[in-house]
Order: sequence, then C-alpha cells, then structure tokens
Amino acid sequence: MENLLKQIPKTDKLLNTKALSAYNPIVLKPLIQKFLKDYRKNLLKGGEILSFESCVEYIAKEYLHLSKKSLKPLINATGIIVHTNLGRSVFSSALLEEIIPTLSAYNNLEYDEQQGIRSERTIHLKKLFTTLLQTEDILIVNNNAAAVFLILNTFAKNKEVIVSRGELIEIGGNFRIPRVMQDSGAILKEVGTTNKTYLQDYQEAINENTAMLFKAHKSNYEITGFYKEVAYKDLIKLAKEKNLLDYYDLGSGYLEIPGCEYLKKFEPSLEQIAALKPSLVSFSGDKLLGGTQAGIIFGKAQYITKLKQNQLLRMLRVDKFTLCMLEALLCAYLKGEYEKIPTAKMLLQTKEQLKHKAQKLLAQIPPIFKPQIIETKSYIGGGAMPNKPLDSYGIALKTKDEKQLESFLRKEGIIARLEDKKVILEIIALFTKDFETISTTLLKAHNAR
Ligand SMILES: *Cc1c(COP(=O)(O)O)cnc(C)c1O
Repeated sequence: MENLLKQIPKTDKLLNTKALSAYNPIVLKPLIQKFLKDYRKNLLKGGEILSFESCVEYIAKEYLHLSKKSLKPLINATGIIVHTNLGRSVFSSALLEEIIPTLSAYNNLEYDEQQGIRSERTIHLKKLFTTLLQTEDILIVNNNAAAVFLILNTFAKNKEVIVSRGELIEIGGNFRIPRVMQDSGAILKEVGTTNKTYLQDYQEAINENTAMLFKAHKSNYEITGFYKEVAYKDLIKLAKEKNLLDYYDLGSGYLEIPGCEYLKKFEPSLEQIAALKPSLVSFSGDKLLGGTQAGIIFGKAQYITKLKQNQLLRMLRVDKFTLCMLEALLCAYLKGEYEKIPTAKMLLQTKEQLKHKAQKLLAQIPPIFKPQIIETKSYIGGGAMPNKPLDSYGIALKTKDEKQLESFLRKEGIIARLEDKKVILEIIALFTKDFETISTTLLKAHNAR
C-alpha cells in the first residue's frame, strides 16, 4: 500500500511542470490538490495508477474547463418571444455598440458636470420617459418585483391595501402578491370573489386605515365566462374621491409601436395607461419593452418623491449598465428605430414575412429530416397575453427518435419544441443569423446517429 501511494506525484512537481507553466499558479494549486486527494482516494479503493502525463493532462483539462464561460448564447426556436428562462428580451448589437463609449469610461452617472455637483442617477431617463409617456416623474429600480415591494413598503406599511380576489397572482420565480404584501409590511384586504369584483366591493372595504387601491395584471392566466373586474380608470377615480393612492402592477407594459396592431387589440399601451393620470404604475424593463432587467415606476411627482426618500431604494437601485441600456432603448423608441429593438422587431413581423422566413430556413434544412412548413401558434411570453397566440410558422422535422434529436439540438444550444412525434423549430423568435447554425447542427445530429 505504502508503495502504491508513493506513485502519487507531489504537488510542487506538478505545479512546476513545464506543461502547466502557462497557467496561473493561484488557480492551479487548489486544482492540483483536489486532483491529488481524489487520486489518492481512488488508489486506496483499488483504482489504477496514472502516468505523470495523464495527471498533467487531467489538471490542464480542469483548468480550461474552469475558464470556459457558463453563460452562453442559445437559439430560441420555442416560439415564445419573451422567454424568462432564455433571458427575456434580446439586445441588438447596434444598441450595445452605442453604450460602449460611456461604459468603458468614467461617466456622469451621478455627477452634474455643468455645475460640478453631485446629481441623481435616474435623471438621465426622466426626460425621455416623461416625454414618451406624458407623465410627471419616474423611478427605476432593480426589477418590477422590487418596484412592487418599494411602493407597498413606502405607502402602506401597517395600512390596508385593497386587492381583488381575482388578482391575487403568482407569477414565475415564487412571486406571490399576498406574500410580497406581507413582507413589505402592508395589510392585504381582499375584496370580491375569484371571478367577480365590483367597484362597490372596493368602496365598502375602504376605512380610515386604507392606504391604497391595488390592481395587479393577471399576466399568466385569464378568467373567462362569468367574470367581472373593475377597470383601472374607475379605481383611479375612486381613489381620488377618497384621497387614496391607486397603483397598478402592470407586469409587462409596452410602448406603442406603429404598425403593430396585435398588442393594441388586447391591452392598453403604456401611453394609454399614463393618460389616465394614475398615482403610480410599475412594469418590467425586459418584458415587452424589450430592454434590460429593471422595474420602471411612473406617476405623480409627489409620490415618486416619497419613494426616493425610502432607505430601501439604496438596496434596490440600478447600476450604469441598466441605465445606459434603457437610455439607448428609449432613444430608439423616440426615433422610431425599431430595427434596434429585437422584441419590437419580432412583434412587427407580418404573417407573410414569417412565411418567407420559414421558407428561407426550410431551404437550409438537410432533406433527410423531411422538413415541412407548418402553421403554428406562437406566444409573447413574459406573462403577457397567455391565451392570445400570434399566428406564425414553424419547421417540423421527422426522425426515428424525435426525443433524441430534440435533446441533441438542445445540448448544442438550439431550443426546439416537441409535438406530435416531431421536432418543431418555431420561426418567430429566430434571427436569420441562426439559420446556418441550425443547418450545420442538424447535419451534425444526422452524422452522430
Ligand atoms: C413579471 C411580473 C412581475 C415581476 O417583474 P420582474 O421584472 O420579473 O421582477 C410582477 N408583477 C407582474 C404582474 C408581472 O407580470
């Protein structure tokens, strides 16, 4: 046994071997130590003796593996445009390039260079947002969940917040309205029933400890049939009469995009909601808006000012990446440069364009998969319009083992869908630059069988 363990190389010998000399010894040393520990254990269990070269090779592999990026690009063939698991909205290279100069230098994040004094970080977006939305003021926090929490904590600590039982939502990632209320210190006052809530229900629940009338977007579900909810404009009116605050957690707000009738058909735009002159509204920056993760709050200046005084804001504030990105995004909206906003661009695709795109992809698919264009229903995702599909197209692929093909594509970074024993590549959220990768990966899949 002693003899056997003597076969194990010394840490220093490995550390100083020429083959590993290019690697950072600070990273290398713990890797070597871990390797030797495992090796020793393995030998004692009757494992085989490795040559010095094999040891070096193994350690080099571990080192390279460590420096390989874990976050990587994927191809979204799921047919869901704003896919939370796939990073929600995509940035365009054009917008990213615009923000490089500011982000690779010192900048005026919190500095007024005209007056030489400290300034406020959200000021850079105020003019853009207030112009686009015709609202008094804005505030940006880490995400919409943070916005909900901050608003409740600021205005409703130990006070009652009236919410319809039809809107006590849970969205992905364990965000439940009743739980958020509780943690923020607000007292939840449920009114109405699951399927019907009237203005009178809110009226009757108001008392001297009421702070707010709260509306939550149902986001990921719908109630149909025998159903009634109170319109936000009626809640705003009631709140005003009773000297209360109205707040709408909108989830996935969108700015109007000329030529995109689909959204307007089902949901009011941010512009339309802002025109109601609400107290406060919040929405996500990376859902339909097409930007980066952020919680965007807008409304009456007096309330935004109070939010800014909450100590919590220091914990929820956003950094320069987020603000730079949102500024570039809003400039693109302002100038109508929708080609710089992939989420908007995807929504603007006409059925004809989608068909054309499908034909282009079809031409690049190896015939062995018997590819066929099929009509599909795609979705916006990100908790918007769960039952309002977008008519689109996909390519159906036939193969002996469709589960195996789906899994092969997935491991190569192409996320497709299985349906009717076929692998479906949905067109709507694909970029044309993805086509070649899809084509070569399919060939690879065929050759791997
Ligand atoms: C998505 C959503 C949230 C959470 O927004 P994040 O930006 O993901 O934190 C909150 N409320 C509603 C209604 C939503 O749809």
